[in-house]
Amino acid sequence: MSAPEPWETKTCPECGAQLSARAEYCWLCRKPLKAAVAGHAVTPIKVFSVFWLTLAIVAVVFVAAAIAFFTTCIGGFFVGMAVSGSMGRSGEESLGWGFMAGISLGVIAALVVALFCARYLVSRARRTPQP
Ligand SMILES: [Zn+2]
Repeated sequence: MSAPEPWETKTCPECGAQLSARAEYCWLCRKPLKAAVAGHAVTPIKVFSVFWLTLAIVAVVFVAAAIAFFTTCIGGFFVGMAVSGSMGRSGEESLGWGFMAGISLGVIAALVVALFCARYLVSRARRTPQP
């Protein structure tokens, strides 16, 4: 912490008036000076953390989608095989139906999970208070 001392001065970027270092507004032209204060600009550290946050969200969404895909795929495979088997189809045909049902259900489940996961994580990241 290095708060500006009262005897320190700065120059107004708009009109060049001499101001107290603690002034938030120029006494002459009434321009707010907060934008000129260091720390309000986008720093490389902030960009870096946003990058990692995005990467983490993508990774979590990917893993969740993959888990949803494989579990639904296996479940759909057996359900599809059982359903087509009960309909009197041959073993080979049932296998094809099982794969079809498993993969299509797996893709739908993965998309739904990825969408909900991404929406939840992004809303959580946005709600995080900025320092
Ligand atoms: Zn000014």
